[in-house]
Amino acid sequence: MSKCLVKSEIKTVFDRISELEAVKQGLNFIEEDQPRTIEEQKTMVAIEAPTFAEGQRAVFYAEALKKLGLMDVHIDKHGNVLGRRPGKGTGPNILLEAHLDTVFPAGTNVTPVEKDGRIYAPGICDDTRGLAANLSVIRALQSSGIETEGDLFFAGTVAEEGMGGMSGMKALLIDRKDIDGTISIDGAGCDTIIYEGTGIRNFEVTYTGPGGHAYSAFGTPSAVHAAARAITKLSDMRPPESPKTTFTVSLIEGGHAIHAIAQKAVFKINLRSDDPQELDNLQKQAVAIFAEGAREENERWGKQMITVDYNMILDVPAGRQPADCDIVQASWQATECLGIQPRLVPGGCTNTNMPISMGIPAVTLGRGGQEGGVHSLGEWFDPEGTYRCPQKSFLLMLALAGIHGETKPLLKRRDK
Ligand SMILES: [Zn+2]
Repeated sequence: MSKCLVKSEIKTVFDRISELEAVKQGLNFIEEDQPRTIEEQKTMVAIEAPTFAEGQRAVFYAEALKKLGLMDVHIDKHGNVLGRRPGKGTGPNILLEAHLDTVFPAGTNVTPVEKDGRIYAPGICDDTRGLAANLSVIRALQSSGIETEGDLFFAGTVAEEGMGGMSGMKALLIDRKDIDGTISIDGAGCDTIIYEGTGIRNFEVTYTGPGGHAYSAFGTPSAVHAAARAITKLSDMRPPESPKTTFTVSLIEGGHAIHAIAQKAVFKINLRSDDPQELDNLQKQAVAIFAEGAREENERWGKQMITVDYNMILDVPAGRQPADCDIVQASWQATECLGIQPRLVPGGCTNTNMPISMGIPAVTLGRGGQEGGVHSLGEWFDPEGTYRCPQKSFLLMLALAGIHGETKPLLKRRDK
């Protein structure tokens, strides 16, 4: 999708906001604040934060939020950092967040190195840039003295990447029923608006049998053969192209000796869909096939020896909201206000999955700047013009929460 028609009442709010002297000052402040945010980004990237071990970085981020004068700054029981900038209590509460964790294991060299205008360090973009950009938004709000109708919340969330499965964001929203809309900063670019959540389910499937000598026990069903039968059938599944629904058997291991009938075989399968119903359908098919692999191998040899077990090891809910819902229109308008052509990105697996699947309006917006090698040891960031990311968040938060005495909030409070 490349277009989004913004209704006049949303345009009017942004027109009004852009005219306010305090807002203009805030935008200028953010541009001038860029060197400081880059320094913070370099400091934070050097604090290792593998998924499930974000503690040290969380402590640093909580300190930073406190120094900026946010209220109720704390690290919650899941490890998320959360702080609040109170509004008048007369509007929706808006959360701006980025994730603390990186994909790099403990012991990775995360010292930033600068070369030819780029900063190289594993995690320098994803999502350390998001964390740093959001600090600049807070500073601009504090220096502008703007009062909002709703409260503004700021978070560094844990467990977004890999097997974290965005569980930090999920836990935060389950605990905080008072958050009415969320903005996540993640992904490349300054133009992207992610407004859908692609669901993910990962399964681990295990086949076991008695095994035996390849020659003398011939006739015994094999765990590897059973897994192979299942994988062949899984390969033939035909999910719909739209809504995009995908699968892959991604990892496989089994057997223990070249001259032995395998006692054990394990594979992992990754299922995804932009649509919750299609994800359910695909899962049903896959689960039936897991059993068929064992059954057919047993039938082939006329012996009930192979059994199958499976576990769902990751469950990220899919979620959809209309491409023309208010938060998407407002994100579009905020991007245009900065002279950038916005781009709606269908699908996506970001922290936004969680709010959308819970019915909370949400978007994920890009970090700004230029970047490359994300999730690799060669990850780099070029800060040129990256201040427009926090500028956009600043405008969007104000529009969604409402500026006291000036604009009506664009989001509603959700029913608790
Ligand atoms: Zn990320």
